[in-house]
Amino acid sequence: MKVADNLNNIKNKIEEACEMCGRTPEEIKIVAVTKYVSTERAAEALEAGITDFGENRDEGLLAKYEHLGDKPVWHFIGTLQTRKVKNIIGIADYIHSLDRVSLAEEIQKRAHTPVKCFVQVNASGEESKHGISPDEALYFIKELSGFDNIIIEGLMTMAPLTEEEGIIRSAFRKLKKLQQEIQAAGLKNAPCRELSMGMSNDFMIAIEEGATFIRIGTALVGEDS
Ligand SMILES: *Cc1c(COP(=O)(O)O)cnc(C)c1O
Repeated sequence: MKVADNLNNIKNKIEEACEMCGRTPEEIKIVAVTKYVSTERAAEALEAGITDFGENRDEGLLAKYEHLGDKPVWHFIGTLQTRKVKNIIGIADYIHSLDRVSLAEEIQKRAHTPVKCFVQVNASGEESKHGISPDEALYFIKELSGFDNIIIEGLMTMAPLTEEEGIIRSAFRKLKKLQQEIQAAGLKNAPCRELSMGMSNDFMIAIEEGATFIRIGTALVGEDS
C-alpha cells in the first residue's frame, strides 16, 4: 500500500472516531512511527503530507534526520537511555518518554533551549511497561519545576497488551483524568495540554478518550513494499 492510501484510511477513521465523541480532526496530530521502515519509505510519508515523525532509537532518528532534515517535526518515542540524550538533543522536538529524574537532569544539562516533553505514565500497571505510576506523576512533575529546559507538554502512555477494549479504554481514560489533575495544579513548567496515546490497533479508542497525538507505525507506513 502507498503511504498516501494508508493515510487516507486513517484520516477516515479519525473522522469516524471524532464523530463518535464530538471532537474535530484538527485536534489530533498524527505522528508517523518510522522505526520499522527505510528512509525512502519515510520520505514517501513526507511527500504524502505527514509532518510529524517518531523514532524509538537514537540511531534510527539520526538516520532519518540525515535524509529528511528539519522539514518534519521529530518525536523521540522510545525508552531513552540517559547516555543517549546528547545524541538526540537539538534534533528531537518532542521527547515522549520522560520517566525519571536522572533523565530529566541529563536533558536539562544538554539542552540549549527548552525541550517539549511528555511524561510517560504506566497507566495499566503492567510490570513490563515503562513509565511513572499514575499516583506518582504529579509529584514527579513538581520535582522538575526547577528545570527550565523541560516543558511538560503532556502525558504519554502505551495501552496494555490485550484484545479487551474495555481494559485499553480504561487505561486511556486514566491518563485523561491524570492530565486534568495536573492541569488543575497550575504548574508553570507543566501546561500539560497534550495526550500522546493510541497506536495502529487502538487509536480510535484513544481519540474517543481524548488523545491529541496518536503514534502510528504499522497501519500508516507498514512494511516496505
Ligand atoms: C512502535 C511504537 C508505536 C507504533 O506502533 P504501531 O502498532 O506499529 O502503530 C507507537 N508508540 C511507541 C512508543 C512505539 O514504540
